[in-house]
Amino acid sequence: MVFRKYPGDLLLLGLLLLPVIVVAPGIPWTEQGWLYSLAELAGVFALSAFLLAGMLSARVPGTDPWFGGLVRVWVVHRWLGVSAFMLVMVHVLLLALAMLPVSLGASVTTLFPPLSHWQVWAGWAAFVAMLIFIAPTLGFFGTLHYQNWKRLHLLSAPALVLALVHTLMLSTTVWVWWLLSVLALAAIAWRKLLSPRLARKLYLVEGIDRLARGVVELRLRPKGKGIRWQAGQFVYLTPMDASLAAGYREEHPYTIASGSGDDELRIGIKAVGDATQALMDINPGAEVRVEGPYGIFFEETGGKQAAPVGPEPQRKQLWLAGGIGITPFVSGARDRMENRDRQRPAASLFYLANRPERAYYLDELARIAEACEGFDVHTHYMNEHGVITRDYLAGHCPDYAEREIYMCGPPGMISHLQTLLRHEGVPAHRIHTEAFDFL
Ligand SMILES: Cc1cc2nc3c(=O)[nH]c(=O)nc-3n(C[C@H](O)[C@H](O)[C@H](O)COP(=O)(O)OP(=O)(O)OC[C@H]3O[C@@H](n4cnc5c(N)ncnc54)[C@H](O)[C@@H]3O)c2cc1C
Repeated sequence: MVFRKYPGDLLLLGLLLLPVIVVAPGIPWTEQGWLYSLAELAGVFALSAFLLAGMLSARVPGTDPWFGGLVRVWVVHRWLGVSAFMLVMVHVLLLALAMLPVSLGASVTTLFPPLSHWQVWAGWAAFVAMLIFIAPTLGFFGTLHYQNWKRLHLLSAPALVLALVHTLMLSTTVWVWWLLSVLALAAIAWRKLLSPRLARKLYLVEGIDRLARGVVELRLRPKGKGIRWQAGQFVYLTPMDASLAAGYREEHPYTIASGSGDDELRIGIKAVGDATQALMDINPGAEVRVEGPYGIFFEETGGKQAAPVGPEPQRKQLWLAGGIGITPFVSGARDRMENRDRQRPAASLFYLANRPERAYYLDELARIAEACEGFDVHTHYMNEHGVITRDYLAGHCPDYAEREIYMCGPPGMISHLQTLLRHEGVPAHRIHTEAFDFL
């Protein structure tokens, strides 16, 4: 992921450093030795990273553009969680090392005191809970099915509470921890208890268009007030149809394939697992809940640039799509069709598929290209042309390396194209990717 500065980054950095700024001056560095003090500092950093990871799980619609979109928020959340876990290990190791000059016994007793020192044992319990829920994220003991991974992740809440108890009981400065813990626990409460009731809008399945084998497009209409979105954003969709073979009441992220002015919410879905397979047979009239929109794929939300260092608005664009990764571009193309009078930079779409039958949106995209000036579509079939090359791109779009580049598709395609483009001298900040497997 390309590093860019977003307005929310300063807030995140401030919240991460606040406990250190408040607590560090009170650590008696000379009295207790620098190793012991460093151990305390590692513990302080670990808890602030853990609390911040908790805060970032809130997922309040409309707030994620300030942090670079929800996908980036999840990346930062994961990075903070893993860092917190590592720092807890550093904390334990440094405590043991700090007491070693006294004696091995002192070192062991510091880590494993009598049970009456329950504050220390609360810390150990937090560590064990962390180890259990973070292990599958790090790939220890294999990977879990996504829904089981999510259930196991709920252990993070008791782990956070135990870590707080440990710190509050052993720390002299407590207000900063109370402040951050209220924010983190409020975020978790919003996400788990309130947002399912308050943030999800009710929609009805109005129609199902079968695009290809294992690919459908759902047409959804709001029952009441629906959501507003920008091209390329995504939503969490929760089917409320108990007759589905799988995925009932399970939320999954899908890109909105409609243009931003469409009354209907259209979602293109490819069957890859049990929940997406079940949606192939959802009945018209079925209820679904929609939460969002999220993301800033085209880095433009509400007509404002979300990032101070975002794409150049007038630079021509190159869109590279593979498989179901075509959906954000279908949204972008439909948006151009709906708003033909709006000035936009020219865009060339390369639709990458194995064979013509798998380019399921091609007919509509070709019609849009005919109707919209400054938008053209090219296909690349792997079975016919092999892996896409610079010559293929240059043959259809000679200035491709000078453009603002957006891509979405399978991981193999993304990494191949990223290498190709970087090799051609395209700077990282001009390459924008959307990952459909961000967790
Ligand atoms: C930002 C974004 C936009 C997406 N847009 C589309 C789209 O327009 N069309 C489309 O067909 N697919 C899209 N996907 C992918 C879609 O979410 C997964 O294919 C779907 O969740 C798979 O669920 P499953 O139970 O059928 O398969 P599973 O076998 O359960 O999951 C397959 C993989 O999908 C991912 N996944 C599963 N559940 C979730 C979840 N709740 N949250 C995040 N990732 C999950 C995991 O990486 C998992 O390994 C998008 C994903 C993301 C992150």
